Amino acid sequence: MIGLNIKNGALYFNDTLISGSIGDVGLYARPNRDLYFNGEKIASGNINNPVGLYHSQSKIFFDGVEVGSGGGVDPDSEFSPEGYWIPPAQPANPTGKDWTYATIISKYDELMAVEPKLTKHRYNDGNGNAILSTVGNYELYHYVYEPEDYDKTLFLQAGIHGNEKDSRLTLYRMMQILFTLRNTNGYTAWQQIYNRCRLIIIPVVNPYGNDTSGMNIPYKSTQYGINANRNMDFNQQYGLAGAGVGGDVPFDINETRHIRDVVDLYGAENIDYAVDYHDGADIMQHYWINYGVDSPNRTLVNDFVQYLVRTYVPAGVTPIIPECKDNPATGIVMGYFAKSLGVTASTNEWIGGIWGYSFDSAHLTHSLAIRSNMLFIALNNDVKGWQVKESLDADYFHFDYPRAFTRDSIRKDEAGAETIVTDAKIRSRWDTLQAKFPALISKSIVLGVNATGDNVHSYTFGSGATKVLYVGGVMRYGGTHKIDEFAIYQLIEYLCSDYIVNQSSFLQDLRNNYTIIVLPFIDNSATNSAPYTGAGLNNAALSRQRWVIDSGTNKTIPASNEHGTGNYGVQIIKSIIDSNTDLKCIVSGGEITTGYGGNDQTEYTTEFQTHFVVPKNMIFDATDYANHLTVNRDENVVVENTKGFTFADYAYDHFNIPTYFVQLKVSNRWSELSADHGITSDAYLYSNYEAGRRMANIVNLFVN
Ligand SMILES: [Zn+2]
Repeated sequence: MIGLNIKNGALYFNDTLISGSIGDVGLYARPNRDLYFNGEKIASGNINNPVGLYHSQSKIFFDGVEVGSGGGVDPDSEFSPEGYWIPPAQPANPTGKDWTYATIISKYDELMAVEPKLTKHRYNDGNGNAILSTVGNYELYHYVYEPEDYDKTLFLQAGIHGNEKDSRLTLYRMMQILFTLRNTNGYTAWQQIYNRCRLIIIPVVNPYGNDTSGMNIPYKSTQYGINANRNMDFNQQYGLAGAGVGGDVPFDINETRHIRDVVDLYGAENIDYAVDYHDGADIMQHYWINYGVDSPNRTLVNDFVQYLVRTYVPAGVTPIIPECKDNPATGIVMGYFAKSLGVTASTNEWIGGIWGYSFDSAHLTHSLAIRSNMLFIALNNDVKGWQVKESLDADYFHFDYPRAFTRDSIRKDEAGAETIVTDAKIRSRWDTLQAKFPALISKSIVLGVNATGDNVHSYTFGSGATKVLYVGGVMRYGGTHKIDEFAIYQLIEYLCSDYIVNQSSFLQDLRNNYTIIVLPFIDNSATNSAPYTGAGLNNAALSRQRWVIDSGTNKTIPASNEHGTGNYGVQIIKSIIDSNTDLKCIVSGGEITTGYGGNDQTEYTTEFQTHFVVPKNMIFDATDYANHLTVNRDENVVVENTKGFTFADYAYDHFNIPTYFVQLKVSNRWSELSADHGITSDAYLYSNYEAGRRMANIVNLFVN
């Protein structure tokens, strides 16, 4: 190769390295092939339209025109044709398998002495005292590498399972390469990580496990201890004897609280990708890299695994990779990031059982290729979850990867009971948010008392001139999902975030111009037996119809008995409507109602993905919006009028307030992505994509 050229982020002149790092001196291209000289952008380009002087295939080009041709060959590429980094052969490190926690920390400390931008942080309480590991009383540390100018933040951790020695050894090796070898032939690809990535690293999550070579750590009287990778708050696993229990409650031990608190320190919204490194010394599988089924890294992980199979699995051997997909059945770290936090994440597991576990050169080179390319995938692709990605001329709001609906699980001994979201949890969620943002959210006086004797409140966001109301928890039998309560909660939570609001003109409109009154629920369940027989605001079931059509005025009014004028729920909702007759609209949502024996709601359509039910006398021209949902979201949209027996009819008949009751069934995307997950349609209701649907409907009905 000849002339001045850029290779793997370094500047060369005729094969001679003249600057090991882009972004500082001379001519260089970054980040998307724009051309810079000494830090100043001098031309815009992209990979298909290179600009300025550049080198390709041993020729020199200027703005696409060949200006010189030379002999020689390109330097050895550090990348495969698909763009994956190919590590040089690694030194064997059999003793690394036995490194104690203290040794590993000391090695990171040595890297700090080389790299001043790498800092060490002890897990402390509010008074600066160390919070020690629950088992073994080790001090817990994370490290942060923060370059002056970065556009990615990656969260990396290893050793949550103490017997998985490769994971924490190869993570350390990656950091050693980054800080000591990035200007060396074969490793110059790491200059991009060095220049552009902030790294948050927990070298070993579980020190006691590391030092005792145990997967789990002792826990109360359980035979197999606690599996820390089952103790996060999305589908926290409450009992699987062979793998160890997941704890009594999510974040039951300091080791997992440490992960949670480190993330909180930097903000989930600031993390582009989180990787939890594992290995399985005796598990007979080839690779195990997962993703949130709707997340931006889904196809990237699939492509990468196929590359690994092509590169490493011998011809004729059928690769065993059953878990390279979304599998949110248990409370693993990846699920916590992807579902609870909305952070794109993966478990990255190299399976030693099939490949051997010798820590020789071949093993460590293979492992490095698997571990380190997760960083390059994050570096070279737009994988961040916390992005609305709204076009300037968008007609409707949508957010494809918000936080998923958490089941907010707790340990229960009866099967499936971990999915229960109690009244107290919903109230606590709102009270916590209100306490955090008292200038944005206010809590009402007691509006009444519900079926179980609890006080009912509403919460109001903002003070704009346009007033809207959300009513949760109605038309529900059994109340198993609580999805709509979370959708409106999440919307209000996002409206409190400058970071999110600034990405969407719809959310800016809502924050600046609206007053949003939210009644999260009155009763969390409706049933045909005490104490819930009084519940269900739109309940026309059996002999307990709440609302009737007045034969004189032909308008809907409360029924004239204990089920209407004497019903607490009817009175609460009626008083909110009567004192807010200037509402622009009301949006409500709830569960699928067909399971309610004797309920007139069974007269409604059951074939839909999105079902809008509007008052009997209201005309809802949903053509544009339904078309958007059908064309862009593959949803079967149905609009129906009520029979006139709901609070929506009362609001519309008396005050002309448009009211939309929205029911959602799981979207077609669940089956469209069936190859990428093993999730039941019921579980998929809690996925990120479904979270986005519910939130989007509320926003679009409010603002349009
Ligand atoms: Zn593991």
